Amino acid sequence: MKGKILIDKQFCKGCRYCVEFCPKGAIRLSTALNSKGYSFAEFDEKKSCTGCATCALMCPETAIEVYRE
Ligand code: SF4
Ligand code: SF4
Repeated sequence: MKGKILIDKQFCKGCRYCVEFCPKGAIRLSTALNSKGYSFAEFDEKKSCTGCATCALMCPETAIEVYRE
């Protein structure tokens, strides 16, 4: 199964949970900052996201939406 995620960078607090728990290494933290001053999570479209939704389940800010193809 293929998936992709959308991250609302303004909700993200940069806690890294999604980065650490994604089994595909498909999320990284930005070098840019959001309007609250946090590095935010970014999806790497080149990695093979499965749509497992682990990232969304881990996110304390519910900033991630998962789409499966
Ligand atoms: S849905 Fe799964 S594979 Fe895709 S970015 Fe989230 S944790 Fe990683
Ligand atoms: S788990 Fe949520 S708040 Fe934490 S870095 Fe990922 S998107 Fe941001």
